Amino acid sequence: MSPQHGTRPSGHGGGRPRRRDRTEPGPDRAPAVVDRDELRADCSSCFGLCCVALPFARSADFARDKPAGRACGHLRDDFGCGIHARLRDEGYRGCTVFDCFGAGQKVSQVTFGGTDWRRDPASASAMFAVFPVMRQLHELLAYTAEALALPAARPVHRELRRALARIEKLTRGDAESVVALDVNALRGEVNPLLLRASELTRARVPGKRKDHRGADLMGARLSGADLRGASLRGALLVGADLTGADLRDADLIGADLRDADLSGADLTGALFLTGAQLTAARGDAATTLPPSLGRPAHWAREGSAGVVADA
Ligand code: SF4
Repeated sequence: MSPQHGTRPSGHGGGRPRRRDRTEPGPDRAPAVVDRDELRADCSSCFGLCCVALPFARSADFARDKPAGRACGHLRDDFGCGIHARLRDEGYRGCTVFDCFGAGQKVSQVTFGGTDWRRDPASASAMFAVFPVMRQLHELLAYTAEALALPAARPVHRELRRALARIEKLTRGDAESVVALDVNALRGEVNPLLLRASELTRARVPGKRKDHRGADLMGARLSGADLRGASLRGALLVGADLTGADLRDADLIGADLRDADLSGADLTGALFLTGAQLTAARGDAATTLPPSLGRPAHWAREGSAGVVADA
């Protein structure tokens, strides 16, 4: 995991009204229980937790080592990032590809009631222990909410809705109960539902659908490939050439897209694709994205070879 403020929507000082976007009611018409805006990072409501709680190691993604529980030297007193606009240029690319799925504001404002770790140092270690667990819970919530929005997944909407309500309730527990959770077991219960939702949705894609689940496709030449409706769940696509590939309705949950070239690819309807995955990849103005995801800023100034053109 790697902390970032690069994709912070209201980013450390800025603030803009956000459209409310609730999970759609399922066939049982039960009320929605999760506001999907709460599953997007709102750094203006967070105490910079990803920049303190998580460790990172000096590498291509981070310019320095930092142990867990120690604040990054670039974290400002107001919990903003002092190099927010220059993260990639300063060697902190890892910060730009991390997504807390709204866990930061949940821990800061709900679990700890708005009291930050600087004002109450005694709470710091508990806060930092809760954050990575909450991040996993919120990631599960985000995937579950997305599955609930898939019309073809109606046969599992009721179970998904129950799972969503249960996880949401767990996120509202106290610090001790959150830290004690067995998130892997929870993931094991939810994953079959997400898989079923994916299968039901991709079954509507005509023709034979490729199954690359968990495949090692590092550096693979997949330019122009027909991957429509394919399963790429957990696939290793680091550095893969996906230029012009047809990835419509492909399941990309957990796929590692670091430095994959998505220039000209069509990702319309791609399932469980996150902004962090796109930020880790390369692409261009011709890449077609799902409407819920924005085009990473660095795509505009880097060519498909990943070289900064206008530095
Ligand atoms: S450089 Fe430091 S303060 Fe800035 S986003 Fe990364 S971890 Fe946070």
